[in-house]
Amino acid sequence: MKLETKCIQAGYEPKNGESRMIPIIQSTTFKYDTSEDMGKLFDLEASGYFYSRLQNPTCDMVAAKICALEGGTAAMLVSSGQAANFFAIFNIAANGDHVISSSTIYGGTFNLLNVTMRKMGLDVTFVDPDCSDEELEAAFKPNTKAVFGETIANPALIVFDIERFAKAAHAHGVPLIVDNTFATPANCRPIEWGCDIVTHSTTKYLDGHDVTVGGAIIDGGKFDWMAHADKFPGLTTPDDSYHGITYAEKFGLGGAFITKCTAQLMRDFGSTPSPQSAFYLNLGIESLCVRMERHCSNAQAVAEFLEQHEKVDWVNFPGLPGNKYYERAKKYMPNGTCGVISFGVKGGRKAAEAFMKELKIAMIATHVADAHTCVLHPASSTHRQMTDEELVAAGVAPDLIRLSVGIENVDDIIDDLRQALAAI
Ligand SMILES: *Cc1c(COP(=O)(O)O)cnc(C)c1O
Repeated sequence: MKLETKCIQAGYEPKNGESRMIPIIQSTTFKYDTSEDMGKLFDLEASGYFYSRLQNPTCDMVAAKICALEGGTAAMLVSSGQAANFFAIFNIAANGDHVISSSTIYGGTFNLLNVTMRKMGLDVTFVDPDCSDEELEAAFKPNTKAVFGETIANPALIVFDIERFAKAAHAHGVPLIVDNTFATPANCRPIEWGCDIVTHSTTKYLDGHDVTVGGAIIDGGKFDWMAHADKFPGLTTPDDSYHGITYAEKFGLGGAFITKCTAQLMRDFGSTPSPQSAFYLNLGIESLCVRMERHCSNAQAVAEFLEQHEKVDWVNFPGLPGNKYYERAKKYMPNGTCGVISFGVKGGRKAAEAFMKELKIAMIATHVADAHTCVLHPASSTHRQMTDEELVAAGVAPDLIRLSVGIENVDDIIDDLRQALAAI
């Protein structure tokens, strides 16, 4: 099946007389004929469901669809993108370990790594995603367990060189984890470029309609945990909390990572998505490829409009030929990147605020990456306590406007921007 077909068909095959849409199995628990039957599930000897904190059939159907889209071997849904990145990292790196992360990543993930996971005893080194080979090499330590980056960084829109970082990670016997939220599998499949584990905030384009917060983790199934057994004892030695199972032996390359993540982390942290939310997510994914085409073509037209407008100072969009990441984006995302653009209007912070006040179609919202066009001016909202100097140091220009181009008619979006620019 091609991608567009998988969006509709993958993950669920109704049998004779069954519902065409995935059923919402809104049940916390599942019934068995004998205690022995249930015991086998607890021992991971048989597959099946017993409690929805760990696994639920509706959620698994949607995870299977995302797995097929990313070209993975196993996948799971979690309750948010934050939970996805936390689980993906914590599954293989904990107290006393070290990870390397791109420095330009989503602010929430930066905090997770830099504050909360440090408190848990995890050491992290942030590297510029465009650093030299020597700098990248120098970031590795004997206790490094993973490398992390975002396909297209939110909000910096830097395109991550997946192949390069995968090679460096593998040379040190550790996997590469890539957050593919902005590109989505419609535009980029990191596993094809050597990435080992993919994560998503499904809250963004996968849902695509501002309906439900969620996350997903997908295993590419190629990383050989046993070949680096000393680095990953959680996967390669018996789990006493699961009757002495060794995940990498019992579930192999394709299944060990997600089985451990479900059996241990979901069991203990319980960041479980609801079956109802999974149903909404599935509905969004059905139109993913069609929507992404429109997001990208709309954003391209909007970026080109902004670039030639006399009141616009600068435009950052990887689809513009002058952009620093244009060539890299063409390599990894030949069909388009995403619908998010950042730009500055002449007159700085004051002008940005005045401009946004005039917008009628583009709504002011902290959200990005869904059907509705929306804008955010970080300097007057999320980062408003900072001075201009502090903003520049944090990589957020005082005049930066983040525009998430939706799937409305592009002429309406451009007319809205034009009238707001005329008013300042
Ligand atoms: C939004 C976002 C997250 C966090 O996801 P939530 O669903 O809000 O928890 C993680 N990574 C990226 C790239 C995001 O855009």
